[in-house]
Amino acid sequence: MIYIDENLCKGCHLCVYMCYQNVYAISSDANKKGVLLPYVKFEERCTDCGVCEVVCPDQAITVNVNKNWWVGEDTKFNPKFSTGKKD
Ligand code: SF4
Ligand code: SF4
Repeated sequence: MIYIDENLCKGCHLCVYMCYQNVYAISSDANKKGVLLPYVKFEERCTDCGVCEVVCPDQAITVNVNKNWWVGEDTKFNPKFSTGKKD
């Protein structure tokens, strides 16, 4: 599942161009800023890679993190990542 916060989106369309699976398309609907919003057109193609979430400059996208390949089932994945602390 991919969530797009329409209020945060500024319509740069980086997500559209960065998605290697061409999941997104550009809508003819505009948000309150007057920008054309991206939307999830082909969700079945999405691999939950998380690239669009990372590339969005406004943190407007949330991808299903639990299925992200870099997290996987391993809850011990790089615990420093969340704490930001060094040993
Ligand atoms: S990258 Fe973010 S701000 Fe840019 S169009 Fe996509 S959702 Fe909107
Ligand atoms: S998570 Fe990856 S495959 Fe899915 S829409 Fe974003 S960039 Fe495309």
